[in-house]
Amino acid sequence: MKKVEHIGIAVKNFSEANGLYYKLLGAEPYKTEYVDSEGVNTSFFKVGDTKIELLEATNPDSAIAKFIEKRGEGIHHIAFEVEDIIAEMERLKQEGFTLLNEQPKNGADNKLVCFVHPKSAHGVLVELTQEIK
Ligand code: ZN
Repeated sequence: MKKVEHIGIAVKNFSEANGLYYKLLGAEPYKTEYVDSEGVNTSFFKVGDTKIELLEATNPDSAIAKFIEKRGEGIHHIAFEVEDIIAEMERLKQEGFTLLNEQPKNGADNKLVCFVHPKSAHGVLVELTQEIK
């Protein structure tokens, strides 16, 4: 794994949260994107070499809606950048981690992503992310 690529934060109100993080970080999101497959609106703020991703559910079946219902707003996942997502997925499977998807999916921000079940990572939802070149 190369670095923490971003930290994902689940929010209830996208525009309010974007305004607050603008104030907190002193910079506007460099990108906002709707991800149909996940039912979320996302925005990305650069913080040095890493990013903050805000996630708002766009429908009640979205994983973000369910997360907020259960645990409230807050840190939702940590994303690690990897060089070769297929190889990392294979390695983690060998190590006994439970992956939430068998194949990499298209995520926000031009990335291939795969999630590791929080139960196999001490309660933390881990995202592997590889840039699509
Ligand atoms: Zn993410």
